[in-house]
Amino acid sequence: MSIFDPVYRQKNIGGQIARTLFHIGQAVKGMFWDKSRLEHLTPAQVKSLLFINYTRRDAITIGNMAKYLTCTPATASGVIDSLEKKGLIMRSRDPDDRRRVHLSLTPEGARVAGEVENIGNEIEEIIASFSPEEQIMLERLLVNIAEKLMEKGLISSSDICTDCCFFKKDSNRGNLKPHYCENLHIMLSEEDTCKECPHHKKTYN
Ligand code: SF4
Repeated sequence: MSIFDPVYRQKNIGGQIARTLFHIGQAVKGMFWDKSRLEHLTPAQVKSLLFINYTRRDAITIGNMAKYLTCTPATASGVIDSLEKKGLIMRSRDPDDRRRVHLSLTPEGARVAGEVENIGNEIEEIIASFSPEEQIMLERLLVNIAEKLMEKGLISSSDICTDCCFFKKDSNRGNLKPHYCENLHIMLSEEDTCKECPHHKKTYN
């Protein structure tokens, strides 16, 4: 039994869907390659720029980047070195904890991230042609699949606080960091909540 066996797929809708998801994954891979070539980068370098650009400052670590890239910390470290040599990212010491190194984009890195970040728009355009009900249903089913893959440790995912089940909005109203995370036990500023977090867990109303 194989999702690549057309006879098997004809009798198994699950196999058909799995093969279609595989094809979509290949298309996304191709989109990353096309954009990366334009900037003389590798897909891993492009993904790393997007990770640094959109992830909450304290969550930009080698370990989280390795999970995001689905590679080892040593490989992620090598990608960071190559981006630093190209002048696209820089390292700086955390003023509150000198042992911690913070990664951020240089102005040129921010320009490149801006050039490549529309990867995937083709897919969004296709989805926009579906009805709102179909889009909600599709999202729920895909999130369900993604969560099962995360449980198996095959992928990692991140998103912003707004729809995270651990997010407590305005728990300390009037403070510079008015929101609270029940998972990480940290206070969050408005800016923090607009950045992706690798510990995000979606909640449904
Ligand atoms: S775990 Fe959820 S609430 Fe906490 S910082 Fe991450 S996304 Fe925000």
